Amino acid sequence: MNLLYKSTRSGDITVTASQAILKGLSSDGGLFVPTSIPKLDVSLKDLAGMSYQETAYEVMKLFLTDFTEEELKDCIKKAYDSKFDTEEIAPLVKADGAYFLELFHGATIAFKDMALSILPHLLITSARKNNVHNEIVILTATSGDTGKAALAGFADVKGTRIIVFYPKDGVSPIQEKQMVTQKGENTHVIGIKGNFDDAQTGVKNIFGDKELEKVMNDAGFQFSSANSINIGRLVPQIVYYVYSYAMLLKNEEIAEGEKINVVVPTGNFGNILAAYYAKNMGLPINKLICASNENKVLFDFFTTGTYDRNRDFVLTSSPSMDILISSNLERLIYKIAGSDAEKNKNLMDSLKTTGKYDITPEMKAELADFYGNFTSEEETAQTIKNLYEKTGYVIDTHTAVAANVYKKYAADTKDDTKTVIASTASPFKFTRSVMDAIDTKYDSMTDFELVDELSRISGVTVPQAIEEIRTAPVRHKTVCEVNEMTNEVKKFLGI
Ligand SMILES: *Cc1c(COP(=O)(O)O)cnc(C)c1O
Repeated sequence: MNLLYKSTRSGDITVTASQAILKGLSSDGGLFVPTSIPKLDVSLKDLAGMSYQETAYEVMKLFLTDFTEEELKDCIKKAYDSKFDTEEIAPLVKADGAYFLELFHGATIAFKDMALSILPHLLITSARKNNVHNEIVILTATSGDTGKAALAGFADVKGTRIIVFYPKDGVSPIQEKQMVTQKGENTHVIGIKGNFDDAQTGVKNIFGDKELEKVMNDAGFQFSSANSINIGRLVPQIVYYVYSYAMLLKNEEIAEGEKINVVVPTGNFGNILAAYYAKNMGLPINKLICASNENKVLFDFFTTGTYDRNRDFVLTSSPSMDILISSNLERLIYKIAGSDAEKNKNLMDSLKTTGKYDITPEMKAELADFYGNFTSEEETAQTIKNLYEKTGYVIDTHTAVAANVYKKYAADTKDDTKTVIASTASPFKFTRSVMDAIDTKYDSMTDFELVDELSRISGVTVPQAIEEIRTAPVRHKTVCEVNEMTNEVKKFLGI
């Protein structure tokens, strides 16, 4: 059966998976969603015997139905290889009564690698299938991790160029160093004088610029997105939820069919949406626990049914979650609106003009699968310190937001269902915040002294991604105003 994709904002645009991957965003500004969510067609028991790559095939073949078996297996093989520092790809670590699903063993030590190591291959394959001869220009706004993971994925991939915008003062020093040292003639990294939402809005405007699109096409270019709105990002993320369940089953931590909870440190709502899709595919998931930092728009939304971005933007120690507009939430809104594009569009228009919208009580009733809560900066640090002192296991700031929300959830509900916490970044990526949380005595050390100290206290080898940037030269120095973004794109492409 061929699964098609529709825009969340109009009933009449229908595309294949490869077309949706190529376009990224629908031309009406909507996001592509599958017309139905397919059911897993292998048993949980069978999945428990599979490798990550085999699991990836079983999940992704159901969504990317216009890819041949050979094409898809080839993409999977190229993505999940020795770029990851463990054959398990996404190991589960049990600590303090929960299972941490480590999604940070790829090239840039954050969970974005899980999808961005396969996206370039899905994209090139999609271009070939649709007879596209233009060079594909990846345009991305990043709150830190996407940018580097996309750069690493696309660097020197033939037929592609990649342009990354990041908030100049809104990413960690290590995140910035990772990006500005990026190699590859087809890469371009630009800091903007604004926050992540400014960067994301700027990128959305460039995508919507019809005049620019024409100029680009005449020069042999077309845009695509590596942002988490691309279904080529979303679908690979479903895989590790299925895989984590299968590992729990394999390790006899759960019985077949037993439900688990999933906790996800959330920003743009892509990762948790993938867990929601996994649940809708038939994976036995009880609650989807949405963890926010002090930018708690989503907590307020789940509590009140009102999404309201009109508030101060807080810079936290979990910068990849410093987001006031969670783009992927639109896919959930569309679904709980009964897949009604008109209804969804009205809400999104309201978000654009007034910065807020209210869902109906009927829609709110559809959110029973979700629980939302948030973690303050102080709690984030305390969580890292407590877990380290209790177990010796060191987690990063984003994962700590999730671990603390899980504690709040368990206290609120007394639910003792076994729980997987998505561990979205290596502590080595946010070393200073992590080490400061453990002990203030680390204050005076340099970033790289801290890296070595973290390695010593945690017993974890310094990841390759960090070793690489110790000495790497800065290659990207451009900083621009928000309103200069389009010009920067044109300059890089020479148009
Ligand atoms: C991107 C990111 C998140 C948030 O994921 P979303 O899919 O945007 O909700 C959380 N943690 C880390 C480390 C990230 O890089």
